[in-house]
Amino acid sequence: MKREFAVIGLGRFGGSICRELSAEGMDVLAIDIHEDKVKEFKNIAAHAVIADTTDENVLKEIGIRNIDHVIVAIGDDIQASILTTLMLKELGINKITVKAQNDYHEKVLNKIGADHVVHPERDMGRRIAHSIISTNILDH
Ligand code: ATP
Repeated sequence: MKREFAVIGLGRFGGSICRELSAEGMDVLAIDIHEDKVKEFKNIAAHAVIADTTDENVLKEIGIRNIDHVIVAIGDDIQASILTTLMLKELGINKITVKAQNDYHEKVLNKIGADHVVHPERDMGRRIAHSIISTNILDH
């Protein structure tokens, strides 16, 4: 079954999510403020648009309200990430997943109602540490 996704921010993290969802046959709307990023995803995602997602009118224009699950992968610009999440929440998006840059960012995202906050570098570091420990145990 196809479900509608949007990925905002096509850096390494957002870009990778966008590629994988598309490769699995999902209907993905790829969004970035920079034209070169959007061009890169024109042939990968079902749809790709240039937009500043901190602007509520822009979000309405690109039809974000028709999307079931939005992934916010804006990392460095924490203000833009928070504003975008707030707008999506106000527009009544069903499911919002957001990449957090640090613990304070994560706290704010949880407060404003993000459904799922991810911390890829920290979580991957933890996973690798556990995998190193279990490999060591097996080796001994
Ligand atoms: P990553 O850590 O995933 O590699 P990055 O370092 O490449 O990310 P970030 O600054 O974290 O880049 O931002 C990810 C993407 O979000 C960038 O491609 C950037 O153009 C986009 N972006 C930043 N602000 C906005 C915005 N207001 N609206 C839409 N896209 C934005």
